[in-house]
Amino acid sequence: MPDDLPILFDFPNSPEAHLGEGQSVERELPIVPLINTVLFPHMLTPLFVGRERSVAAVEDAMEHDRTILAIAQREQDTEDVGSGDLFTIGVEAHIQRVLKMPDGSTSIVVQGRRRMRVRDFTAERPMLRATATPIYGEEDKSIAVEAMMRAVLSLFEKVVKLSRTLPDDSYIMAMNVDEPGWLADLIASTLPLDVPRRQEILETIDTEERLRRLSIMLTQELDVLELETRIHTQVQKEVDKSQREFFLREQMKAIQRELGQEDPLQRELIELRERILHAGMPEKVQLKAFDELERMEAMSPAAPEYSVLRTYLDWLLDLPWAQQTEDTDSLIDAAQTLDTNHYGLPKIKERMLEFMAVRQLAGARLKSPILCFVGPPGVGKTSLGRSIAEALGRHFVRISLGGIHDEAEIRGHRRTYIGALPGRIVKAMKDAGTINPVFMLDEIDKLGSDFRGDPSAALLEVLDPEQNNAFTDHYLDIPYDLSRVMFVTTANLLDPIPPPLRDRMEVIQLPGYTEEEKLQIARQFLVPKQLESNGLAPEHLGTPDEPGTGADMLPEHYNVQFGEKALRHLIRHYTYEAGVRNLEREIGSICRKIARRVAERRAFPHIVTPAVIEKYLGPPIRTHGAAEARDEIGVATGLSWTANGGDTMAIEVSVMEGRGALTLTGQLGDVMRESAQAALSFARANARRLGIDDRRFDKTDIHIHVPEGAVPKDGPSAGITLATALISALTGRAVKRDVAMTGEITLRGRVLPVGGVKEKILGAHRAGIGTIILPRKNERDLAEVPAHVKRRLSFIHVEHMDEVLAQAICEASFHEPHARRNGKKAKEKAL
Ligand code: ADP
Repeated sequence: MPDDLPILFDFPNSPEAHLGEGQSVERELPIVPLINTVLFPHMLTPLFVGRERSVAAVEDAMEHDRTILAIAQREQDTEDVGSGDLFTIGVEAHIQRVLKMPDGSTSIVVQGRRRMRVRDFTAERPMLRATATPIYGEEDKSIAVEAMMRAVLSLFEKVVKLSRTLPDDSYIMAMNVDEPGWLADLIASTLPLDVPRRQEILETIDTEERLRRLSIMLTQELDVLELETRIHTQVQKEVDKSQREFFLREQMKAIQRELGQEDPLQRELIELRERILHAGMPEKVQLKAFDELERMEAMSPAAPEYSVLRTYLDWLLDLPWAQQTEDTDSLIDAAQTLDTNHYGLPKIKERMLEFMAVRQLAGARLKSPILCFVGPPGVGKTSLGRSIAEALGRHFVRISLGGIHDEAEIRGHRRTYIGALPGRIVKAMKDAGTINPVFMLDEIDKLGSDFRGDPSAALLEVLDPEQNNAFTDHYLDIPYDLSRVMFVTTANLLDPIPPPLRDRMEVIQLPGYTEEEKLQIARQFLVPKQLESNGLAPEHLGTPDEPGTGADMLPEHYNVQFGEKALRHLIRHYTYEAGVRNLEREIGSICRKIARRVAERRAFPHIVTPAVIEKYLGPPIRTHGAAEARDEIGVATGLSWTANGGDTMAIEVSVMEGRGALTLTGQLGDVMRESAQAALSFARANARRLGIDDRRFDKTDIHIHVPEGAVPKDGPSAGITLATALISALTGRAVKRDVAMTGEITLRGRVLPVGGVKEKILGAHRAGIGTIILPRKNERDLAEVPAHVKRRLSFIHVEHMDEVLAQAICEASFHEPHARRNGKKAKEKAL
């Protein structure tokens, strides 16, 4: 059976040299079917003859003139070939030699002579036979053919150069062929072409066309080879590099061994193993760590995966697993620590001491409470957390949850992500370095949630005492025990905290400080702290004659003090807040200015007075008390409550001739707009009783405005204030200046209770209000207001709008007749 053997070529002097005489006409020949190859004229090739009928054909030819017809099979895997399985153009070939192989098989060496076209297949057995006639192409050599030959040769040269299988001298042989058809045949038989393409060349009789087709095949071949070469070079480079590295590393190891040094890599792995053994990890975690270490050991340190594993192990090892601090036993010490850090706040301090007392009795089994401090900024929530940690003798860590939308921020990314890291909880635990720190989660009311997952779900797991002994961070991918951590959360407002989270926490309100409290805080805490941090504390300055401290360069008396008047001045005229953050900032900036003067050795005030403050901070930024300067028509003072604490809020109403339109401005929310509608309806329904001409409503436009227009306002609690201002404007009777009020109004004039009363009262007190009108049902909220504040205010509890009007509207400035007579003037006044 002829098989996939290389075709050799010889160099006959002329293409027809091997033709026998009288053989240019039709003749009948035995056929040897070719598998995976096509024989071309002139080519000398060995063929392996295996199939029975092929052997018969060879034997038959040997008995006659050694001539066979070599035709390629259409399908290469057909075993029992019939005449229909063969192409109809083949080559007449002369058997040069027959070789008997040691295993009994036969090989022949044949030389192709000329193309033959089959006329008829005359026999299928014992061998395939056919009658065939020779085909000759045009032998003339036109310029076009000449040019084509050169092009083909040049392409072939490139192919030979790039190819790693074609021998270099194949080009030399081609170069020495000057007959165009032959050249094409030679190259086609040399190239690694498949049978259909070889057959295509064989069947193309016109030499110019044959060359053209061949040149297309050569170009394709060249493209493939070029690509192959590029890929090969790249691969080679990579291989060379890593082989080189490997080689160098082995050499280095050998040198180190010779010098009696340890391999640093080996040392690193040994160290890691030691650390894992002594980290105090739970067994499961330790197994996982060893697993990862083994993977690392099996890896080249140059592999990217290696450093990923190393980082992971570092995280595991840096986390505290067993280290913990002992809680302070002495309640007296703890109480003292709390008092040294914060003024007042008895409720929280008591709660902490209770916790410690119970803990001493119940031992470590006691779950820590999860405290939630709610209050405006600057009331000491964060610093309290720190102080609690100090009192307990624990470490303190803090993360801010404000604006976190992504669950992965809390829980980390899986290690499959490139650059994955643990979440904030685990990072904070690493910073804490112990398993029982005080862990503060700030701004829990500002937690967001969107398509990236709900961070509050992850927090639920953190804060749930039943679950948090096995908190899973996506990156660590092992449970971590948070059950000994004492969590403390802070929030400005309670409402935005998701209810399931709120349920888990013990809420402690910090409503804000009164002026007296602020004064004490400033005196005892803020002033000493700021003097100290600005280098003005006596111990910093040293004694003048102490050399080397720089103190000897300074003036003799530098003890700086803040007078009470100065502090009150700061509180009243430079800050307006529920907490003390701005107060601390202003004290700080005065201290800095003094420090600069001290350093420049200029005169500086030893006692800070209101005058010093105005010199350093400029003129006061607010006049004390937001209460109106005099009784006004159409202006009533309400009370609001925001994340920054309680405050007063003026509501202005002006009436003008028109068609009964109601305009509301000042960024009012829907609920507040509805309140305004309800207030107006109440006024209309009760017009006569209130002394308003009810025909006026159709001829009057009403404009309600709440100043500080840029701040959005909403809620129902402005109801009675809106009604008061409205009725004042419509009746022309003024509202008492130092009365403030809060309460929801119904259409029938009933006054309903509202929230945030404590904060609102503190805000009113700050603003210099004397009388506060409150819904009767809010009476019990007064219990939480400090006594000294209550002493300075008078409270009126009401159930109906009529009571509000009776208390808030001035009888003395009863302008009604005047207003009726001269509506225009009253309107101007209202504006
Ligand atoms: P918050 O977390 O509520 O915004 P901070 O804890 O940041 O408030 O407090 C702001 C500053 O006010 C801190 O320097 C803090 O020490 C101080 N401070 C607040 N309340 C008190 C207090 N009761 N006693 C002493 N200092 C206080």
